[in-house]
Amino acid sequence: MNGKTTYARDHRCVECGKQAVAFFPVCDPDIPASPYCRECLDEAKLHLIIQLTEIFERK
Ligand SMILES: [Zn+2]
Repeated sequence: MNGKTTYARDHRCVECGKQAVAFFPVCDPDIPASPYCRECLDEAKLHLIIQLTEIFERK
């Protein structure tokens, strides 16, 4: 325990203000991730998949 660790549950969801369960996105440590509750996390993941699908379909 070093006190520097940030837990999602100590934050509120950026979308709806409920208690967060996880940070998203977590793909790049240089990009600050935002805390999301379970519902909004699912939605954020879904949007990411849709965006990636659209990018691939444009090729
Ligand atoms: Zn939320």
